[in-house]
Amino acid sequence: MSKKMNRRSFAKTALFTCGLAGLLAAGRACAPLLKPEEKFLRPPGAENERKFLGTCIKCGQCVQVCPYRSVKLLDINKGAAAGTPVIIPEERACYLCDLLPCVLSCPSGALDSSVSDAEYVDMGKARVVRPENCLGMKGETVTEDMINRLIAHGTSGEREKELAEKLRAFSGKACTVCRDMCPYPDRDAAIALTGEKRYAPEIREKCVGCGVCLELCPAESNVFVIEPK
Ligand code: SF4
Ligand code: SF4
Ligand code: SF4
Repeated sequence: MSKKMNRRSFAKTALFTCGLAGLLAAGRACAPLLKPEEKFLRPPGAENERKFLGTCIKCGQCVQVCPYRSVKLLDINKGAAAGTPVIIPEERACYLCDLLPCVLSCPSGALDSSVSDAEYVDMGKARVVRPENCLGMKGETVTEDMINRLIAHGTSGEREKELAEKLRAFSGKACTVCRDMCPYPDRDAAIALTGEKRYAPEIREKCVGCGVCLELCPAESNVFVIEPK
């Protein structure tokens, strides 16, 4: 490589590093002034909302690397939170992928790199708000229409296609979707279906609030809400 090229690469790297450092310093300086107006479900590794707003540089790396297309950026009308990443579980939950690529991609530390796998994630908690809407309570089976409605959330990437295949296997059966699809490694410590002939979900201590139970529940009306931490 020529000396000229070396100087150019050095200058580019220096500019990027200075730019990132500047953005981070500005964010940290403003952090005490940033008053979170709303709670959002953030990607894995985000700490409290105030710290997250002061650290996230809105670069969109976590959006780019998410294989489920779960991470969206908040709209311009969200004040200080505009442009920061969010999970909207009704559209696409977080599937707690191996190695958490969103966390690995974050250059600012807003998604804390010490959160290295699903067991350390703490996005929030699911809550069962309407057990009476559960198909298990109604004694109904999962229909093909219900599954097609869920698959319509997206099938662009490989992981989404695999997800669609898994969902098709529930068609025509008694519903166990929320329990069987919960991606937390020790699933039984996060969610269970309880009851005899009629049953409904019960959220347990290890739930991390990824939102998969809410997204994939095929019932017509909501059984769950996700409460961001
Ligand atoms: S863990 Fe996976 S699915 Fe969840 S936000 Fe990160 S990259 Fe996306
Ligand atoms: S996904 Fe869970 S809560 Fe929803 S209908 Fe099926 S068993 Fe009930
Ligand atoms: S119960 Fe499982 S799927 Fe539902 S939010 Fe908790 S960890 Fe995610």
